[in-house]
Amino acid sequence: MQSKKTQPQASHFINGRYVEDKAGTAIPVIYPATGEVIATVYSATPAVIEQALACAQAAQKEWAAWTATERGRVLHRAAEIMRQRNHELSVLETYDTGKPYQETSVADATSAADALEYFGGLAASITGEYIQLGNDFVYTRREPLGVCVGIGAWNYPTQIAAWKAAPALACGNTMVFKPSEITPLCALQVAEILHEAGVPAGVYNVVQGDGLVGASLVTDDRVAKVSLTGSVPTGRKVYAAAAEGIRHVTMELGGKSPIVIFDDAHLENAVSGVILGNFYASGQVCSNGTRVFVQKGIKAAFLDRLTERLKGVNMGDPQDPAVNFGPLVSARQRDIVTAYIKKGVEEGARLVAGGQVVDGAGFFVEPTVFAEVSDNMVIAREEIFGPVLCVLDFDTEEEVLARANDTLFGLAAGVFTADLGRAHRMAAGFEAGTCYINTYNLAPVEAPFGGSKLSGVGRENSKAAIQHYTQVKGVYVAMGDVEAPF
Ligand code: NDP
Repeated sequence: MQSKKTQPQASHFINGRYVEDKAGTAIPVIYPATGEVIATVYSATPAVIEQALACAQAAQKEWAAWTATERGRVLHRAAEIMRQRNHELSVLETYDTGKPYQETSVADATSAADALEYFGGLAASITGEYIQLGNDFVYTRREPLGVCVGIGAWNYPTQIAAWKAAPALACGNTMVFKPSEITPLCALQVAEILHEAGVPAGVYNVVQGDGLVGASLVTDDRVAKVSLTGSVPTGRKVYAAAAEGIRHVTMELGGKSPIVIFDDAHLENAVSGVILGNFYASGQVCSNGTRVFVQKGIKAAFLDRLTERLKGVNMGDPQDPAVNFGPLVSARQRDIVTAYIKKGVEEGARLVAGGQVVDGAGFFVEPTVFAEVSDNMVIAREEIFGPVLCVLDFDTEEEVLARANDTLFGLAAGVFTADLGRAHRMAAGFEAGTCYINTYNLAPVEAPFGGSKLSGVGRENSKAAIQHYTQVKGVYVAMGDVEAPF
């Protein structure tokens, strides 16, 4: 079903236009709901990579010389175009990832547009400091880094492309972005829209390929910064490779985040938060709260209500707006997830709901809930990246905080309670970059997003992202004569 709707004009977008080089390895793009090949792109050859980096470097100084207001204006225009095309972009995102249109129409191009709008607005307010030193003074300039490389995971291809492009471009950098080879289609649309809005050729480029293409971008001398969204093992490799060239990095990596539900929590909100934190995007969300700690007094009611609410799952063709639960992104991911489910059963966790692969050509796995999970089970320690929720029991606040933090990850954490003091104590105590009180998994562009511990370094979104796409230069200005010893 390779159709006009999903087959891009060409594989790469470089220097303001589509570029094809069929000498690269062919990458079939598969619709996860049916297993059909819906497009083919070609991995970037060394010549394509060279072209992308060279034009990103050539365009950077001139782009940085635009006033920040002018840069902001084109980002705003891009946001507007993106909103106008939300329907077609959401359809494409659904083909690329298999996520239901019901989700993609409100969470992907819309979130990308928010980022373009927010950083477009912020661009002109990026300033340095003035420091008085007697008669002398120092002023600081917040300058762009230069050529940035963005590397994306497959779960949010439009959003990840824009979350990296928006702050990078607002600050006067240029970017070469490599999407995941599993979801190569959406970033090309982001590039097209940026250029239609008036971003000059060479400022934002997209090249396709696997980790080898990513690795050759990361190690190029012209690259000043690397922003990766991916798993911890890839993060280790990319961080190390970037360190060779003392490059700046942002690492948005995996997680095994806790959601803690106290006896006094609002039950319906807690169940809603846990559904959002485990089953949105069929569980393929880095910040998911997959370790759900439930205080013993509310556990039975919580499990009853959760299983009741799971009856509302409507699995099917993700392009159907009534469908609210889609397949996993690939056959490989389905197999990884089902192996974890098998492991959970073997380890003695109680399967409360789901657990089955759905028959058919698509990569569907039922939303799955395990209860009586203990801290040392593999399903409670490793990132599964699928619709598998683990319920763990607890008694006291002190105990649950220690157990929630007993993980190498530190991406997100949430608490549901009616006790205000306890909510803030928990938020302060969580070893995680992104915390929630009485809600879960919201990621507005105004708020910083990112992890601590193995879940990453740096922050995306919010004013914090500006620190990660600029560097500070101090300029000392003498107002008198220069004194020297001889
Ligand atoms: P991977 O780590 O497998 O891949 C991420 C990207 O890195 C892909 O584009 C991949 O290419 C590329 N890559 C792989 N090896 C290298 C290398 N040596 N050098 C440079 N680039 C490389 O992650 P997934 O795509 O499987 O995504 C799932 C993971 O992403 C999960 O762990 C999830 O938690 C995390 N994630 C984190 C988020 C966050 O914001 N913290 C958000 C979303 C996901 P290719 O795959 O094409 O070979």
